[in-house]
Amino acid sequence: MTEDLLEDAIVRFEEALPHAELSEDACDRLRAPVSSLKVSVPVRMDDGKLRIFSGYRVRYDDTRGPAKGGIRYHPAVTAAEVTTLAFWMTFKTALMDLPFGGGKGGVAVDPKQLSASELERLSRGYLAAIADVIGPNVDVPAPDVATGELVMGWMAHEYAKIRRGHHPGVVTGKPLALGGVPGRTSATSDGALHVLRTVQPRVLPGVDHPSAAIQGFGNAGSQLAAGLASSGWRGIAVSDSSAAIHDPKGLDIPALREHKTSTGSLADPPVGEEIGAEELLCLEVDALIPAALEGAIHAGNAEKVRARVVFEVANGPLTADADRILDEAGVEVVPDILVNAGGVTVSWFEWVANRTGDRWTEEAVRRRLEERMVTETKAVLALADERELRLRTAAYVHAIERLSEAMDAKGTAALFGDGDR
Ligand code: NAD
Repeated sequence: MTEDLLEDAIVRFEEALPHAELSEDACDRLRAPVSSLKVSVPVRMDDGKLRIFSGYRVRYDDTRGPAKGGIRYHPAVTAAEVTTLAFWMTFKTALMDLPFGGGKGGVAVDPKQLSASELERLSRGYLAAIADVIGPNVDVPAPDVATGELVMGWMAHEYAKIRRGHHPGVVTGKPLALGGVPGRTSATSDGALHVLRTVQPRVLPGVDHPSAAIQGFGNAGSQLAAGLASSGWRGIAVSDSSAAIHDPKGLDIPALREHKTSTGSLADPPVGEEIGAEELLCLEVDALIPAALEGAIHAGNAEKVRARVVFEVANGPLTADADRILDEAGVEVVPDILVNAGGVTVSWFEWVANRTGDRWTEEAVRRRLEERMVTETKAVLALADERELRLRTAAYVHAIERLSEAMDAKGTAALFGDGDR
């Protein structure tokens, strides 16, 4: 992704500004990140050769608490992409009223090309390179694309070695054995289901068994597909980076998940027919659910979208142009900063548990997650009605007003010293 991604993200922020009550200071401060770090990570490969990987960690804003955001491993990771993802995290944590700001990290790497031990050396090396700018009170990483609890466990351990002490709250999404909380791996899809159920009467009134096409069959997309199937939805198409599968009558999602787990991809599926990747985005469905990477729906294909609602599980799956085209076509879009906020919300529970030395039960995690997701979804719906806004604009207004209030409460004196935390 290019610099355009950040410009594109700022467009949504600017669209919300006329509808939000915020100070000029807050408006200016939200236009650029607090800090950006680029690191080079040397890794000894299994064949004895040294390879240098580029890594990034961006703290976009930390007015409301430590920066919070995942670490992505993908060949296309750039400084601009990480900055944009950190920008979205800033609004997401404010929208959910979590005591966090927004951050993000990433390494430009194709993890599928690395052995397990190379991946571990890279993860530990990257953590060591960013150790000075993270910490439980400063910036708290978590999983994102192609990183999960295994990587978070290595990173938590590497940080403990560097600091010579236990700091489990330095990263979230850890294995249970290292201070993770139950329900973290399904938190994003569980949260998305709560949002979906809350908005469904508004965006799909009177539809009993809605159909869905889901792009991206990884952690978030495949678990959501399973959750939808058990909530009476029909998943009629799913895709990953290797194949797209379609069955107008509804796919056997458990069979496809098993196939993906055992073979590593959706290619040669046991059920359904293979279709083109772009074809999936243009199917006539109740809900199109992009759950892969940013920019999937753009000016070049948005006019072909025939869904009634787009439910953004991925971060930034629609460009600003696509957003405009869908709006004009009357397609409702439920925005990413609300839909996929379940992951960071359960990360908050994990961070709280780590700092208090407490253990949270799965029941408590699920109950608190539902409460947070439903409360903030209803607040966005109410704001949309009250100020006559699209759901994305309403979500941004809700977040911007919380950020502005916190920035203004700190007073301008903080801007002249090092007390600007
Ligand atoms: P993941 O790596 O587990 O899965 C990504 C999936 O997308 C894989 O199945 C991959 O094959 C597929 N994919 C990649 N390019 C594709 C393409 N062009 N067409 C179709 N499929 C493609 O990642 P994830 O954790 O599920 O994250 C997916 C999205 O959700 C990302 O935008 C991420 O930032 C966002 N998100 C994830 C979480 C979380 O907790 N996992 C939380 C918030 C947001």
